[in-house]
Amino acid sequence: AELREARIRKTKTVCTYCGVGCSFDVWTKGRDILKVEPQMQAPANQISTCVKGKFGWDFVNSDERIVEPLVRRGDAFYPVTLDEALDVIERRIKEIQARDGHDAVAFIASSKSTNEENYLMQKLARSVMFTNNIDNCSRYCQSPATEALRRTMGLGGDTGSIRDLELADLVIIVGANPAEAHPVLSTRLRRAQKKRGQKLIVADVRRNIMAERANLFLQPRQGTDLVWLSAVTKYIIDQGKHDERFLRDRVNGFQEYAQSLEKFTIAYASEVCGVREEELVRIAEMIMASERVCVCWAMGVTQHVGGSDTSTAICNLLLVTGNVARPGTGAYPLRGHNNVQGAGDMGCAPTFLPGYESVANEEIRRKYEQAWQTPLPITPGLNNHQMVDAIHEGKLKALYLVGEDMAVVDSNANYVQEAFTKLDFFVVQDVFFSKTAQFADVILPACPSLEKEGTFTNTERRIQRLYRVLEPLGQAKPDWELIQLIANRFGANWSYTSPQEIFEEACGLTELFKGATYDRLEGYQSLQWPVAADGTDTPLLYLDGFAFPDKKARLYPVAWTPPIAVAEEYDLELNNGRLLEHFHEGNMTSRVPGIDAKVPETYVEISPALAADRKISDGALVRLISPYGRVKVRVVVTDRVAGNHIYLPLLSRRDEETVNLLTSSDHDTVTYTPAYKEMRVRMEVIEES
Ligand code: SF4
Repeated sequence: AELREARIRKTKTVCTYCGVGCSFDVWTKGRDILKVEPQMQAPANQISTCVKGKFGWDFVNSDERIVEPLVRRGDAFYPVTLDEALDVIERRIKEIQARDGHDAVAFIASSKSTNEENYLMQKLARSVMFTNNIDNCSRYCQSPATEALRRTMGLGGDTGSIRDLELADLVIIVGANPAEAHPVLSTRLRRAQKKRGQKLIVADVRRNIMAERANLFLQPRQGTDLVWLSAVTKYIIDQGKHDERFLRDRVNGFQEYAQSLEKFTIAYASEVCGVREEELVRIAEMIMASERVCVCWAMGVTQHVGGSDTSTAICNLLLVTGNVARPGTGAYPLRGHNNVQGAGDMGCAPTFLPGYESVANEEIRRKYEQAWQTPLPITPGLNNHQMVDAIHEGKLKALYLVGEDMAVVDSNANYVQEAFTKLDFFVVQDVFFSKTAQFADVILPACPSLEKEGTFTNTERRIQRLYRVLEPLGQAKPDWELIQLIANRFGANWSYTSPQEIFEEACGLTELFKGATYDRLEGYQSLQWPVAADGTDTPLLYLDGFAFPDKKARLYPVAWTPPIAVAEEYDLELNNGRLLEHFHEGNMTSRVPGIDAKVPETYVEISPALAADRKISDGALVRLISPYGRVKVRVVVTDRVAGNHIYLPLLSRRDEETVNLLTSSDHDTVTYTPAYKEMRVRMEVIEES
């Protein structure tokens, strides 16, 4: 055994951080991670990684790992055996469901879990607990983009591949900062700029790193993207430069859509968005002059009250100009977590079974009832946001949450944390003792990705295998094993012995993944869904028609929803986002000593103008106050932000710096994605630098 321990092993994995889906070999000796070695055959990244993928792994050996099941007694947690923990879970959930019904329990799946684990999680909710109350964190990010793509083109995934982004003549990035949030993707764009002279337009309220590389940088007012996007589309139509043939042959609803644009003139957009008319005309001209255009977007678009409609405006623009279903074109909502695409694909949503098949569709439901040998619930379930409200209203009594620090990452964190105190029973399954875990009754020790096998699906719908690099630490188990143990306590009688068996079951039931097998995904091979029965995959969607019965896309008229009005005393516009070094709140990266030393705490960016106006200098300690809460952070003065616009990274090492203490419960009207990017605050100086 000692000899084996001393051997150096090289194992392929897929990055646990962002949705680019980089894969690489990890060199280990015992539990020591020696190095990360990217390989040329890695489809998303080849020989590139970012700082997180390269150096962000020591958290797996952190002393802070949860390595045994814990049960709350009073205000403290005590270690118990797994059987004892499962006893408590079985007894309490059975009591609650017997008293309050099946829908008194809800499930939150993790975008860090594998596809197989997410498939089992929704199967547990639906077939064992008989509820559709299941969701995942795509509710917090890209649900509006998925909604827009489904509305206009039919499928909830990026229309092409990262390769198409490289082939484009013009890339437009709206409300996204891939240089920090999707670094390897931004490297590939950089290469295309240098090698092929690819043009770049960036539209963002903050002058981010991508903006510095752009041919044109547009800085519209917060929450006004739909207006300028629609005005640019209208201008192109007015110039007669829409793609008439594409619209005639492949798209429905052009006339009605064109009429809906009447008020979106360039002059109107200039006034609403606070940008110059010439800039908007230049954007339209750049699009008209380009053979192949791609649009990327992220949270700057989706996390608004009108997130779905703004995402739809992007899809409309692409359809009007015929920039879909050709190499080098398309719509690219950049997925945040490494497997947020997969969590949705596998049906961790209150209205969809795996493959985005509706729970309300009787034929679909019957297919799953036959396969799972049990009746399934008909009523659509609650989403994350509705779950929190339902807890406050006393309708939802128990929650089983996997790998999500909802008390920190959900908007209006005080409201969410208060909800958790009202739960009758709360199970948290995680790698670390998160803020959310503090509210739990039972905590189950989960494995990080390096300790498990399975598949992840990246932002380009690419399914890739990960292999076990390390054995689980202590009593930690992969999520699928823990979910199966719970299911069997409720009489499920599942006997999966490997993720492969789960994957085969899921793919056998789901048209989108029909031909996906572990053999076809061996090593660095990958498949982009839909995967036909013969294993043919689909790097570029809609070549043979859009995913509607008549094969035609649908232009979808949308109206602008102005940002939420807040009392005048809250005079600063707050924005938030990721840092290059950390992933979101830093649950994993802040436990990597090298990364933590480099960026140990968050800060607020304020503009030189604001700093001068308030006589605040770099390093001052300030309090930011919103109607919902307050945070305490140090100031960085930078021209990345302008005027009264301020920016607070998501990193949250201490309670008092959590950005979501400031955000509200307002949300996108269609998908309930929180309007994280629509918040006004005021600022008080606590201590000068
Ligand atoms: Fe990981 Fe994303 Fe960095 Fe690639 S770009 S190494 S997937 S964090």
